[in-house]
Amino acid sequence: MIGAKMGSPRGARRHFQETTMAGVPMDQREGWIWFDGEFKPWKDAKIHVLTHGLHYASSVFEGERAYGGQIFKSREHTERLIRSAATLDMPMPWSVEQIEEAKRAVLEKNNLVDAYVRPVAWRGSEELSVPARNNTVHLAIAAWVWPSYFSVEEKLKGIRLEWSKWKRPSPETIPSSAKAAGLYMICTLSKDAAMANGYADALMLDYRGYVAEATGANVFIIKGKEITTPTPDCFLNGITRQTLIELAKRNGYTVTERHIMPEELSQFDECFLTGTAAEVTPVSEIGEYKFTPSAGCRTLIDAYSAEVQPKRAAAE
Ligand code: PMP
Repeated sequence: MIGAKMGSPRGARRHFQETTMAGVPMDQREGWIWFDGEFKPWKDAKIHVLTHGLHYASSVFEGERAYGGQIFKSREHTERLIRSAATLDMPMPWSVEQIEEAKRAVLEKNNLVDAYVRPVAWRGSEELSVPARNNTVHLAIAAWVWPSYFSVEEKLKGIRLEWSKWKRPSPETIPSSAKAAGLYMICTLSKDAAMANGYADALMLDYRGYVAEATGANVFIIKGKEITTPTPDCFLNGITRQTLIELAKRNGYTVTERHIMPEELSQFDECFLTGTAAEVTPVSEIGEYKFTPSAGCRTLIDAYSAEVQPKRAAAE
């Protein structure tokens, strides 16, 4: 959803080209991918077609951004990766320190400063049926250039969202706090449907009918100096979301986490999404509800841009 001008099929195409580096497929790039402890040339980082992760979604991943050579909240992402793996009964064969070191090495080996980082862990191909305990856990880490494309002015036009027909499931149905591949099935269906209809993204309700999240980002709404955001009890409590809550408070906003019914959206003036990829993305429309991104969105975009910059020594 970082491609802001996606209200048209042309916009959607442009978004595709930007996120795939001018159309170069993801498996055809140059560079190095960290794969089970060693670097492999990008095009050779392959797995077998009979891999458990591919058939049964025994796979977890992270999405992270490096700014000025440093990954923002790197350790939090690594800890979430290991937690997600544990939730799927996948014992991660690497420690937090080892993964931190590997991510730094990936950036260095690929000469990346401002980049998107994608660690992914999955069950291998020893056996192929529902049980997974005899299948080893693998980890790969890739990174590529993925800048924020839009100026603040461009972002402030806001993106248009449609309501998804899919609902975030109950945590008793699926382990919804994990960043697990299986949970993205309804995200992809929702996002593709929205883009086919000329929208940038979709907003999902949860199984109870409360406002939940977009397909790869959390949602916030603003009225005056009050910010409200859904309680993350059946979707990811994003690392960007948690950062934004702190930044909003520091900037004089009150922040309330609660259940929100969709019809309540008519009472709010501004709306924005947060996520590692989305950063802070203002929203102009969710279905029948309209918003005008203004001072609140601008303040938080600026606060977030400042926050993600690497912390320099005070003397510098
Ligand atoms: N929800 C979903 C479904 C996501 O994919 C993401 C992106 N990881 C988020 C929320 C936001 O999470 P974060 O701020 O940790 O990137």
